[in-house]
Amino acid sequence: MNPYLLGFRCLSCGELHAPDAVTYTCPEDGGNLDAVYDYVRIGREVAPTDLTQAPSRSIWRFGPLLPSPAPSGLPTPLTMLGNTPLYRAPRIEEALDVRAVWLKDDSRLPSSSFKDRASAMVVAQALATGREAICVASTGNAAGALAAMCAGTKLRAIVFVPEGTPEGKLAGILIHGATVYVVRGSYNDAVRIAGEACKKFGWYNRSTGTNPYTREGKKTAGFEIAEQLAHWTAERGFRAPDSVIVPLGDGNILSGVHKGFRELQQIGWIERMPRFIGVTAKLAPSLARTFTSVSETFDEIPSTTIASGISVDVPCDGVAALRAIRSSGGTVIEASDEDMLAAMSTLARDGGVFVEPACAAAYVGLVEARRAGFLRSSDEVVLQLTGSGFKDVRSAVRAAPQPHTITSLDDIQ
Ligand SMILES: *Cc1c(COP(=O)(O)O)cnc(C)c1O
Ligand SMILES: [Zn+2]
Repeated sequence: MNPYLLGFRCLSCGELHAPDAVTYTCPEDGGNLDAVYDYVRIGREVAPTDLTQAPSRSIWRFGPLLPSPAPSGLPTPLTMLGNTPLYRAPRIEEALDVRAVWLKDDSRLPSSSFKDRASAMVVAQALATGREAICVASTGNAAGALAAMCAGTKLRAIVFVPEGTPEGKLAGILIHGATVYVVRGSYNDAVRIAGEACKKFGWYNRSTGTNPYTREGKKTAGFEIAEQLAHWTAERGFRAPDSVIVPLGDGNILSGVHKGFRELQQIGWIERMPRFIGVTAKLAPSLARTFTSVSETFDEIPSTTIASGISVDVPCDGVAALRAIRSSGGTVIEASDEDMLAAMSTLARDGGVFVEPACAAAYVGLVEARRAGFLRSSDEVVLQLTGSGFKDVRSAVRAAPQPHTITSLDDIQ
């Protein structure tokens, strides 16, 4: 076990549980847990260049800040994961009058979504603790990521997805050999059934919010962004932008990327935190409603958005996301389905990236935050891209123009 890992703190009661004492949520009150490390000791014993100059470019080079040992062995998608590109988007900068817009393209991970980072960490933990089967409830991408990260290992993947899951996502799960149960109900119904199934059959539960290791995988995107930004200004180590914009469903990606930056700051490797802007779907309103209040409790409100990646009735990691947004001086923006479809097309034409509607929400957030004056023209902004458009071709066809059908060259004007 990582000697710097101090334990898991409950986001509800604040108790720090020893690493071995907990598996999922707080035994006292069911609150979500958050891994805590000895940042002072890491700062003394580890140099930032130990991580950034490591020969491996995978997420496993951040070992002192990860809860599970790197899975050893051959260069499979699991052991090679990470180091996605950080693109600059000059056309978008011009159009919106923003100094710098960067796109962190996690649609380039092995299963074409950000969720690989989380699934890799949970699979590493499962391998380290001798598990045989892992289960997840998912809107599609977390399950595809779990199936891909289990491939080539001895672990069996069992997944629960809601009906209506885009067929590209379903195919991407099934092709890796996972067992798939389509639940007649919502994503949050699938979360409940998966939890019960894990108790009944003894499977390890990867579901977001339940499993504290997912955030630990997701924070590696924050490390990578800070590392890549420093690289582009010829600095060593890490550098923070002014703002990071993240699509938000359960809130685990946002709280994860935020945690990556916060840990770099706690160690003393960056000075200030970026502001975090979370973008939810207008038609999945639970988290945004709580954000406008002062509370940390969420109502379960049926989601009807086409953006499957952020279609949640109630956010499973909402408390962590709210605290990340509020403490960083950020905000929550709500994106309509129409705006997300239009944003898919803009990101593809002007940014060169083809993403799914949930991911395109980040671009809607950029436009709205700029219009509201929340972002200034002198700002440097990073959009966290989370999933490929190829897994939801139906939405892409709605967002894209029609092709020209021809018989001969005479048909071309
Ligand atoms: C899961 C997902 C999100 C949202 O992540 P949460 O942790 O649920 O907030 C955003 N975009 C895509 C493509 C996703 O699959
Ligand atoms: Zn607790």
